[in-house]
Amino acid sequence: MKRILITGGAGFIGSHLAQRLLNDGNDIICLDNFFTGSKDNIRHLIGNNRFELVRHDVTLEYFAEVDQIYNLACPASPVHYQYNPIKTMKTSVMGIINMLGLAKRCNARILQASTSEVYGNPQIHPQVESYWGNVNPIGIRSCYDEGKRCAEALMFDYHRQHNIEIRIARIFNTYGPNMALDDGRVVSNFIVQALKNKPITVYGTGAQTRAFCYVEDMTDALVKLMNSDFTGPVNLGNPDERSILDFAKLIIKLTNSNSEIIFKDLPSDDPVQREPDISLARKYLNWAPSTDINEGLIKTINYFARIINTVSVN
Ligand code: NAD
Ligand code: UDP
Repeated sequence: MKRILITGGAGFIGSHLAQRLLNDGNDIICLDNFFTGSKDNIRHLIGNNRFELVRHDVTLEYFAEVDQIYNLACPASPVHYQYNPIKTMKTSVMGIINMLGLAKRCNARILQASTSEVYGNPQIHPQVESYWGNVNPIGIRSCYDEGKRCAEALMFDYHRQHNIEIRIARIFNTYGPNMALDDGRVVSNFIVQALKNKPITVYGTGAQTRAFCYVEDMTDALVKLMNSDFTGPVNLGNPDERSILDFAKLIIKLTNSNSEIIFKDLPSDDPVQREPDISLARKYLNWAPSTDINEGLIKTINYFARIINTVSVN
């Protein structure tokens, strides 16, 4: 049994990770400021004597005795991270400084939830970890992309300077239950629109590509990385690449929806293509995603169908 801190533990991925690590017999501190996360995601864990919920902001120092830290605190949806870009940058940069300080004091191992966004609008396809990326440093996505790049740099500086045990996961588009209804990312937008028979909003022509990984595959990879000897950075995602227009058609099919597809302006700096090369994850973590997209989407659609008319109060 380990004492494990998950920042952003009430969020989409964090809540699945908390459940998984509890199931494995660990003691969990779930830290969150509830900006995009929700108590609904972890309500069933409250009352478990190995689960502790702390309302706290990672931009402020936090003290606890822990063996491992999963640093997930950061809004992940473009809509939410662009809402207050200065706060987003502070969350990534001050957050990782505070968590690395905690790791140093406790001699804890720390995993950073980094992102495929460190590759920006990639000119190498599929993306490999050795690629340094093509990031606009002054655009509307920069608060997120550069914040995450800075966090990776700090992780390696603490590793070199203070021998902190670090793990860096470059997470690619992940989906599943516990995404917020108003999350704004493509999976939740399309499913909610389809379930309400409202128009499906494809940005641009829909020719841009993404590759979607089911959340349980992702939490499995994160736990494997944390407990491996591999520092990373390592790409974690599902290489099943498809265009956003095809993805919209798939959601309409799986929901039996009457929705039409409408086209809206493409936000600036929206990456044209994205697909992880997961050779390193296969080699060092013996991991590859196993959930078929149809199976994962049906579970996600059922989740949204259940919560679509509920109101959440934090
Ligand atoms: P999410 O928005 O559902 O979860 C983020 C959590 O962090 C939320 O619970 C939020 O309330 C919390 N948070 C935000 N700012 C905070 C702060 N200052 N202090 C404390 N808590 C704060 O997003 P997610 O999809 O679960 O993403 C989790 C992590 O994984 C993020 O760091 C994200 O950048 C990374 N990631 C996710 C994806 C994906 O596709 N889901 C892809 C790449 C990277
Ligand atoms: N997108 C879309 N319609 C939406 C939301 C997103 O066409 O309602 C597109 C978006 O422009 C991007 C892709 O879907 O090309 C994935 O967007 P998301 O916000 O999920 O995450 P990203 O991978 O861009 O960080």
